[in-house]
Amino acid sequence: MKTALLTHADCLAHVTPTGHPERVARLEHILHALEPLDLKRITAPLAADDDLLRVHPADYIAQIRATRPAEGFAQIDGDTFMSPGSVDAAYRAAGAVTRAVDLVLTGEVGNAFCAIRPPGHHAEKDTAMGFCLFGNAALAAKHALDHHGLSRVAVVDFDVHHGNGTQDLLWDERRALVITSQQMPLWPGSGRPDETGDFDTIVNIPLNPGSGGGEMRDAYQRLAFPRLRAFKPELIIISAGFDAHQDDPLASLNWSTADFAWLTREICTLAAELCEGHIVSTLEGGYDLNALAASTRAHVEELIEAAQ
Ligand SMILES: [Zn+2]
Repeated sequence: MKTALLTHADCLAHVTPTGHPERVARLEHILHALEPLDLKRITAPLAADDDLLRVHPADYIAQIRATRPAEGFAQIDGDTFMSPGSVDAAYRAAGAVTRAVDLVLTGEVGNAFCAIRPPGHHAEKDTAMGFCLFGNAALAAKHALDHHGLSRVAVVDFDVHHGNGTQDLLWDERRALVITSQQMPLWPGSGRPDETGDFDTIVNIPLNPGSGGGEMRDAYQRLAFPRLRAFKPELIIISAGFDAHQDDPLASLNWSTADFAWLTREICTLAAELCEGHIVSTLEGGYDLNALAASTRAHVEELIEAAQ
């Protein structure tokens, strides 16, 4: 079976001010790096409002739509901006992950990667923040649970920042296990191990500034993989941020490209053991263009290898 690549040109029309790290060139570099790979390329649809409404209130969605500027930028907070193309980009990003869930669960593809922006894991129920507008990973999980009738879905978030949005959106969802590793201390400041959700289904794994792949591998083997095995998810969603890379300008972990490949391979092995290899991965952060492109390619190559 093949690995699907879901993306849309609209995701390149979400523009941020000059000098902003979450920029169009990120996705351009990724798509260029993935060009030679044997992938089933799928055009991402616009998300249905029903999919967004599983995690965001209607007035929040309306407020995001109303904030879209006719030209220039609308600033939501210190580092979250919208351009005229941002609403369509956010709907394509959410549409990509929900379509990817459909493709994987119906067996049309082995697994899937969504090359999208804006990212999603910082968006809370009614708060856009950290470059994120809609909670893509959480709404993919809810789509799998509520639309496809799954009983257990896991989210693994290895972005260097805490997946506070995914945690907020799935805090009271006993059918979703959320495992998120993050450098601490680091923005946004949440992500302590005692943040465990209403049903003890949130697993926060803080990592020390300056630490590298060794600490990460040890932490995942001790704290993440046993929880995944015990939970027995029917689908694993990956919030794939590549800003824990040693070259990334926004954080100070020292993972190598090989560390991202290792972690992806381990998650694929677990998925093969637990849920027929069903994985949907979606892009989050990663701000050094070369490290981002190389790490994303290594991640997708592991997905391809696992799908065969
Ligand atoms: Zn990040």
